[in-house]
Amino acid sequence: MKALVYLGPKEKAVQERPMPVISAPTDAIVKMVLTTICGTDLHILKGDVPTCQPGRILGHEGVGVVQAVGTAVTAFKAGDRVLISCVSACGKCVNCRKQMYSHCSTGGWILGNSIDGTQAEYVRIPHADMSLYAVPPGADEESLVMLSDILPTGLECGVLNGQVQPGSSVAIVGAGPIGLAALLTAQFYTPAEIIMIDLDDGRLATAKKLGATATVNSRDGKAAEAVMALTAQRGVDTAIEAVGIPETFELCQQLVAAGGHIANIGVHGRKVDLHLESLWDRNISITTRLVDTVSTPMLLKTLCAHRIDPKQLITHRFRFDQILKAYETFASATETHALKVIIAT
Ligand SMILES: [Zn+2]
Ligand SMILES: [Zn+2]
Repeated sequence: MKALVYLGPKEKAVQERPMPVISAPTDAIVKMVLTTICGTDLHILKGDVPTCQPGRILGHEGVGVVQAVGTAVTAFKAGDRVLISCVSACGKCVNCRKQMYSHCSTGGWILGNSIDGTQAEYVRIPHADMSLYAVPPGADEESLVMLSDILPTGLECGVLNGQVQPGSSVAIVGAGPIGLAALLTAQFYTPAEIIMIDLDDGRLATAKKLGATATVNSRDGKAAEAVMALTAQRGVDTAIEAVGIPETFELCQQLVAAGGHIANIGVHGRKVDLHLESLWDRNISITTRLVDTVSTPMLLKTLCAHRIDPKQLITHRFRFDQILKAYETFASATETHALKVIIAT
């Protein structure tokens, strides 16, 4: 089968690889129908993710059709159409019993990281019963791909950890796919203000369309002042970091109101200063999280009920034989205005 393989920092290729086989009774083999590229895949290609070694098939998102299941899989059978979660969960270990699936002792985020992923014609899914979701009848499968990772990540790590509430004020730093997913899911909780901050006017215009009440271009280095002006010098109740660089996390520290929350989503490759000299008496909380995908069943229901439209995040479509072009397009988002790219196998 054909697969997109990570070959080391800055190197990747489409290679012919052996078909995956069932190696544990809880495994399923899934024939991919749709997949996509995540910002995390770009982090891997930069060499930022040491758990992902050269030779690895990338990808942790997608929709497919079950090809075969191990003897212990009871919830799925060959022919079932399934949504693949970016997080695999055994459901039995100490962390799974706390619904902290991201830290499952034999799962978590392993797809396209420590085991082969979904940017291929077929993928092996461990702990299939807990890591796949049946595609609801009539559901739009391109929209479903947004539920593998970005929507639960924006919701759980950003909105829920940030305790977004009715009438509250929110700033989201970073208007890429994850920041926009946080913007879409924040609206479940009817905050009064959602201020989007980014360097790219195109992305900010998209944010406006998707429900941002105000946008701030941080190019001039005065984003904190702009947000203070928008919030009567209070700052925001929730500052969501959706980039993963020191500057954006430091900006969140400047934006947070007394009693507020900083919810980090970004994948940080470098250390960041924590300004306790100005925050020690501000009654704030700071949270970090790797998505647990506990919200996926709820998101499936809201998607099917048309209460959320993540398809708006899809900007480009490719066939699998164009996946290198898809990477190029996704990686040069400033020029291409790419958000999520769909790759059909
Ligand atoms: Zn991802
Ligand atoms: Zn587990």
